[in-house]
Amino acid sequence: MTTSAIELAEPTMLGWLTDYGLDAEYVRSSGNTLFAKQADGSERPVLDLAGGYGSVLLGHNNPELVALARELFEQQTPIHAQFSRHPYANELVTRLNAVLHREFGVSEPYYGVFANSGAEAIEAAVKHAELDRVLKVRAAVDAVEESLNRAREAVAGGATVVEDAYRALGVPVGDFEALAAELSRVTAEKAARQPVFLALESGFHGKLVGSIQLTHNPVYRTPFTALARPSRFVAFNQPGAVRKILDEERVQLTELVVDGGAVRLGERELPVVTAFLLEPIQGEGGIQEVGAEFAREIATACEEAGVPVVIDEIQSGMGRSGAFFASSQIGLRGDYYALSKSLGGGVAKAAVMLVREKFYRGDFELVHSSTFAKDSFSCTIALKALELLEADGGRAYRQAAELGAKLKAVLESIRSDHPDLVKDVRGRGLMLGLEFHDQSANPIPAVAEQAKAGMLGYALAGYLLREHAIRIFPTASATNTLRFEPSLFFTDAEIAQVEAGLRAAVAVLRDPSKRLV
Ligand code: PMP
Repeated sequence: MTTSAIELAEPTMLGWLTDYGLDAEYVRSSGNTLFAKQADGSERPVLDLAGGYGSVLLGHNNPELVALARELFEQQTPIHAQFSRHPYANELVTRLNAVLHREFGVSEPYYGVFANSGAEAIEAAVKHAELDRVLKVRAAVDAVEESLNRAREAVAGGATVVEDAYRALGVPVGDFEALAAELSRVTAEKAARQPVFLALESGFHGKLVGSIQLTHNPVYRTPFTALARPSRFVAFNQPGAVRKILDEERVQLTELVVDGGAVRLGERELPVVTAFLLEPIQGEGGIQEVGAEFAREIATACEEAGVPVVIDEIQSGMGRSGAFFASSQIGLRGDYYALSKSLGGGVAKAAVMLVREKFYRGDFELVHSSTFAKDSFSCTIALKALELLEADGGRAYRQAAELGAKLKAVLESIRSDHPDLVKDVRGRGLMLGLEFHDQSANPIPAVAEQAKAGMLGYALAGYLLREHAIRIFPTASATNTLRFEPSLFFTDAEIAQVEAGLRAAVAVLRDPSKRLV
């Protein structure tokens, strides 16, 4: 293989990684270890806490998944058999239903629509929710028109329209056709209103044209607001915030009601909010957990308003939190689920969105598709990944909780030893965050400089890689928070390595003789 003299594959990013010493080339991976190629050709083992941004809960190159992948290739399992029967996809959705039913204590089916990445699953969910909303809007408009027809017949039969109705619509009293025309016009105007998407502040749902408008970080979002519908963001864990926005967005259509010999005005709800999206544990937003109280408020307020709740478990799901669905731990059942990352077992690129039967529109399948989605390879690997998670009565979930508790205790002890430097420790299971206080006023110029540039987390990542062979990154939208997402194979020795590395990193923030970047 020849190597180009100039870097053509996202060279800006590579330059930036190089500045922080993060430009390692990994040539092999296994369990929690990535092997970096050294200048002399040797391999340096690196403890990976980034875990494919949450994709390798089952470890890098999980032997059982790799063996299955080999088998699938050997059997010449078709990778491309679009527009045919996909029993493996059906099996996967069926088994995901079983997990969902168990964790939430429900029995309603959820239908599955497949995708290849997290953002794609989110966009499919949003598209589906919007199709459902549009069809409900059409039904509401039809209902208003039917109410006009019924009233017209009643008026022809001698019924009288109450005067208030004419006045409310600003048409001459007694002119029924003017009233009907005005009602139709106002109804059409309201029905044409742009939809509203709700998402949580500091949430992350992807970076595609639609999903980036649901991702709160303005750096990623605002250059592209002209491309898609902007969202309304709901304050995180703030009591009353959801209900307030839903009340503000509420729109009612006016219809006519025949009541004995009288015709009067009535009201009908117009669905305006397409969906409310949230992560039960925010990943890129700094490992922030939605509280059980806030979850209850979301569930009741959305249910009352008829707004579907889309739960993004792309990072928090598949067992990482100590349950398959992190949302089950806070008692928040979604009307939709988006799953990806560890769903593919770290081997396949798989994503699926699940829709509760109550909201499901079969016609969506006729207007949405993706060439690579729902293929036998990724579905079969995902099925096996799910089987590994569910084995021995869910041992993997217990392991995630236990290993996470061990690591969290270490992080807590570092915080209690350095409360002036470490602000907080958050998360559960193998989804933990350690937040540093702002270091812009740190007396060490190199530290303060990185902090002012918002790069302290990356500088620490570079330090930990260089000095302690630990691969870790800050969360994308909260760069003072380091994110810990190791696999289920996390060992005590690795936890000790993390502790030593972090304690040394903290020392670098205090000791000017130590090199950060
Ligand atoms: N949702 C969440 C919660 C995520 O963490 C991510 C990725 N970090 C996404 C969506 C987007 O997934 P992808 O990068 O596969 O598009």
